[in-house]
Amino acid sequence: MELAERLAALDARIAEAARAVGRDPRELTRIVVTKFHPPELITALRGLGVRDVGESRQQELSQKRSLLPETTDLTWHFVGQVQTKKARAVRAAADVVHSVDRHRLADALHVADPEADSPLAVFVQVNLTEDPARGGVAPEAAVELAEHIARNCGSLSLRGVMAVAPLEEPPARAFQRLADVSARVRAVVPAASAISAGMSGDFAEAIAAGATHLRIGSAITGPRPLRG
Ligand SMILES: *Cc1c(COP(=O)(O)O)cnc(C)c1O
Repeated sequence: MELAERLAALDARIAEAARAVGRDPRELTRIVVTKFHPPELITALRGLGVRDVGESRQQELSQKRSLLPETTDLTWHFVGQVQTKKARAVRAAADVVHSVDRHRLADALHVADPEADSPLAVFVQVNLTEDPARGGVAPEAAVELAEHIARNCGSLSLRGVMAVAPLEEPPARAFQRLADVSARVRAVVPAASAISAGMSGDFAEAIAAGATHLRIGSAITGPRPLRG
């Protein structure tokens, strides 16, 4: 299948999954995750009308953005782990950061451009696994981190919560926990109503659990080249 066909097929499946649970597909943002693929893929996706792309490594994001200066109509989402010392570079290259999972990182992203004209959109990443080494803040600490960002990081705009479903359990159950965390975060930061969840293999479950931002890679791009 060609890229255009895979994109159209995936969008049809997204629309179907949304309608199946009584949601309007137009309220969903479909981000195409292009990590490890060459910049030409982003150009091709843009030609097909894609406006949201996702990357997971800072160097790769910065490089692609500088190689594609004409892509001012794209929104670049950063979905990978961020080392605190890379916060400045991430802020310079990303429009949205989905993976804020600690105070120190939120502070570093804020001080990278504290007087920014337009705030940096961020999500609090929640760790839905039992393994503290995985990315994300523990569910019970997410509200406190959200409050910290809303109170103390004036150049960040908190949009909501993000998570990757663990491999060890049915995604529907994990995404329900994320929806619960989202409700608690919204109770203290009402504007933070977005939920970034759902990948190639579990977007239907994510949509059913209220996801607003889907991060889809391989189902659209085809298999990823080996990471270099
Ligand atoms: C790679 C990646 C995706 C996309 O994964 P696919 O299974 O290829 O759809 C989504 N979210 C994050 C955080 C990723 O790193």
